[in-house]
Amino acid sequence: MSTITGKVVAVTGASSGIGEATARLMARRGAAVVIGARREDRLEELARDIRAEGGRAVACAVDVTRREDLERLVHRAVTAFGGLDVLVGNAGISKIGPVADLDVDGWSAMLDVNVRGVLHGIAAAMPVFRRQGRGHFVTTVSTAGLKISPTMAVYAATKNAVRTVMEGLRQESTDGVLRTTSVSPGYVSTDLPDSIDDPDLRRSIRRNMAEFAIRPEAVARAIAFAVEQPDDVEIGDITIRPTVQD
Ligand code: NDP
Repeated sequence: MSTITGKVVAVTGASSGIGEATARLMARRGAAVVIGARREDRLEELARDIRAEGGRAVACAVDVTRREDLERLVHRAVTAFGGLDVLVGNAGISKIGPVADLDVDGWSAMLDVNVRGVLHGIAAAMPVFRRQGRGHFVTTVSTAGLKISPTMAVYAATKNAVRTVMEGLRQESTDGVLRTTSVSPGYVSTDLPDSIDDPDLRRSIRRNMAEFAIRPEAVARAIAFAVEQPDDVEIGDITIRPTVQD
C-alpha cells in the first residue's frame, strides 16, 4: 500500500494539465482529493471520473486570486475528509512577452495568480497544518526560473518569488511540522499556452510543446514521489524536463 493512501490532498489548477494529472494519480494511489480551479464543469467531470474509478474526490470552485476561495478549499478538505495533508499550489498562467512590450496588466495577472495565489494557499492551510502537527506545501514553479530566456522574465520572476517563499518557509519550519517542495517542470504538454496573449509567441510555444514536451503525468509522478516520502524526509526541489530541452 502506498504511503499516499489515506492522505488528503488539495490541488489548485486541477481543471486541466498538471493539476488534473496530479489529482488523478493521487486518487489512484488512495488519497482523497479536493480539486480547485475556476472551470467548475471540468472539475465536476474530473471528480465524477475519479469516483467512478473508486476514488474519493470533491470539487470546489476556486479563484486563487481570492483569499477566501482558498479558505473555502481548505475548509472543504477538513469537512469532507477530516483534515488536509498536502496542498499542491499549482494554478498558474503564463502571459509571456518581452519586458519592453510593457504588458503591465499581464504582469499584474501573473503576480495575482502565480504569486498571490500560492500565498493565499499558504495562509489558508498553515493553521490547519500547525493544528494537525503535519502538512506539506507543494508548488509548481518552472525551469523558466532556472534558465531565464527572453520573453519569460516576468513569468520567471513570479516562479522564483514562489521558490524563495518556499525556501524561507522551509528554514522557518525546521520543527518537523511542515514539508515544502518546489517542482520545476520544463516543457509539459498542457493548455498553458492558451494564456499567452501574443499570437506569435503562443504559436511558437505550442510548436515546442508539440515537438518535445513531456506529458503532465510525468510531473504528477514527481509530485507523488515527494508526497510519498515518510514524514521525516523532505524533497525540497525537483527539476523535471524533456531530455532534449536546452
Ligand atoms: P494549464 O493551463 O493546463 O493549467 C493551469 C491551471 O491553472 C488550470 O487548471 C486553470 O484552471 C488554473 N488557473 C488559472 N488561473 C486560475 C485562477 N485565477 N484561479 C484558480 N485556478 C486558476 O497549464 P499547466 O498544467 O501547464 O499549468 C500548471 C502549472 O504548471 C502552472 O503554474 C504553470 O505555470 C506551471 N508550469 C507549466 C509548464 C508547462 O510547460 N506546461 C512548465 C513549467 C511550469 P481554470 O482556468 O479552470 O481556473
